[in-house]
Amino acid sequence: MRYTPTVLVGPSGVGKGTLLAGVRELCPQVWISVSATTRPPRAGEIHGEHYFFLDDEHFDALITHDGFLEWAQYQTSRYGTPRAEVVKHIDAGEAVVMEIETQGALQVMERISPLRTIFVVPPSLDILEQRLQRRGTETPEAIAARLATAKREIQLIDRFDHVLVNDELAQATTELVNLLGLAQS
Ligand code: 5GP
Repeated sequence: MRYTPTVLVGPSGVGKGTLLAGVRELCPQVWISVSATTRPPRAGEIHGEHYFFLDDEHFDALITHDGFLEWAQYQTSRYGTPRAEVVKHIDAGEAVVMEIETQGALQVMERISPLRTIFVVPPSLDILEQRLQRRGTETPEAIAARLATAKREIQLIDRFDHVLVNDELAQATTELVNLLGLAQS
């Protein structure tokens, strides 16, 4: 039976990346898509591992050549899922997961079927704000903008199959492994 590809969404700072790192450790067979972005790398981020960091010209060229399964503007940058890689891994029957924001997820819903969709929420918006502050990767203005976007994103929650509350990390990771239908090795 073919694996149903999954999109994982949720507001910035909710812990999608940390959850997926935990899933990858428990279930190394999962294939997590590497997105392209025009945002500059944060300290420690590696090109080709965390993102493909592209300039606007390269991002535009990929759009023109239909190279994205989906793409969206998020804050001051653009983010997109390289189409060919994802399709290749889906066709190979691998457990494909795409970690993206909601506008992109709505595009994937129109283009890939069957598709599993999971929305990760924080226990509260106050806790989300604390997590963004603790992460320390954004300025106060950027944190405020990400929180405003988070409120808009959460309004779309009904469009998703599953809601996962990321309160206690280990528990949320186990729940995510179960939702993804992955066997632990
Ligand atoms: P960050 O700048 O914090 O890495 O990511 C900002 C937002 O962009 C997050 O919500 C993240 O899930 C989303 N994102 C990452 N890659 C993609 C992508 O390929 N497409 C879309 N639409 N969103 C993405």
